[in-house]
Amino acid sequence: MSFSKFPLWETGGFSYLRRLMNSKEEIAKVPAGKNEAGSKQIVMSGIRPTGFLHLGNYFGAIRNYVRMQEDFECYFMVADLHSLTTHPDTKELKSNVHRVLAENIACGLDPDKAAFYCQSHIYETSELYLYLNMLAYIGELEKTVTFKDKVRQHPENINAGLLTYPVLQTADIILHRAKFVPVGKDQEQHLEMARNFANRFNHRYGEVFPEPVAFNYNQELVKVPSLDGSGKMSKSENQLATLFLADEDDMIRKKVMKAKTDGGPTEANSVKPDYIENIFGLMKLVSTEDVLQKFDADYNNCTIRYGDMKKQLGEDMVNFIAPIRNRVNSILQDEKYLKDVMEKGAEKARVSAQKTMKLVREAMGLTY
Ligand code: AMP
Repeated sequence: MSFSKFPLWETGGFSYLRRLMNSKEEIAKVPAGKNEAGSKQIVMSGIRPTGFLHLGNYFGAIRNYVRMQEDFECYFMVADLHSLTTHPDTKELKSNVHRVLAENIACGLDPDKAAFYCQSHIYETSELYLYLNMLAYIGELEKTVTFKDKVRQHPENINAGLLTYPVLQTADIILHRAKFVPVGKDQEQHLEMARNFANRFNHRYGEVFPEPVAFNYNQELVKVPSLDGSGKMSKSENQLATLFLADEDDMIRKKVMKAKTDGGPTEANSVKPDYIENIFGLMKLVSTEDVLQKFDADYNNCTIRYGDMKKQLGEDMVNFIAPIRNRVNSILQDEKYLKDVMEKGAEKARVSAQKTMKLVREAMGLTY
């Protein structure tokens, strides 16, 4: 990413150069839950309530939330404000927010361990977003890949919120002075921007924020591909090639059986085409090591039967998704519980947000 029109210190460019020289720093490797001073390190992430959650949300984000809540100070939110950039109609927002809450909890997120809240309940976010907007340049925002995608997909609704989406995301993260951000691979560029905005604030007003980094336990960030081999699983696009946590068993089997394959390899140990690699990738997520090794060996000696492989994958997916789906359905029955979760989460998040905003206003000299 190049911001050559802007001075280095303004763009956070010094830290960018540092990272180029040591690019392994880009994605944090298994950090200790506590820092050198012995206090818990801070983690923040969020998911938009724009539809049913899918396997990509689980393996890109939620799986890490569940592990990190044990050792870190965690803030996880339902990003309802972000959803308004593409879904201005709020008729279904309440049920979508409830669904995201229930789906996270069904996957193992524990509201007693992490602060689990709704973005719009924390007004401090909007204040920090405003200040950060003065530090974000139109040129860099217009170059964001996700912005360009949205412009292509929805030319009738290119609003300013869409343009400043990464600024709001930065506000969410640094509002808690978070260091680690468990996200999928699609968020890499946004995290780069978050580091730039945080650094730019620090350079102009004084050190307030740590540099946030995208996080996946000891690995590269995850991209769960769609079943037809084109792009990634997504809440709103390509729904027949996306496995949702709410899909019924037969639907899961049907979608998996439709995954793209071919006549099979004709030469031993040949390289797998992307769409076959994707099926092996999905198998790696939900099947046992034995199963994976068997089909890998079959592929390498050209005896693989993709029909059998997809049948096995379909069953392993059903075994993975069905218990989550059943838990979601029972959690959704209890609206009072979900309201309590949001209120308790917002109380915790507000304490941290208010502490940060005091530092921000002092650093900016807004304390007359
Ligand atoms: P979103 O659905 O865009 O609100 O994203 C919520 C979280 O899920 C973010 O951390 C994304 O990076 C992650 N995510 C969404 N789709 C995928 C995917 N196909 N593979 C991996 N992570 C994903």
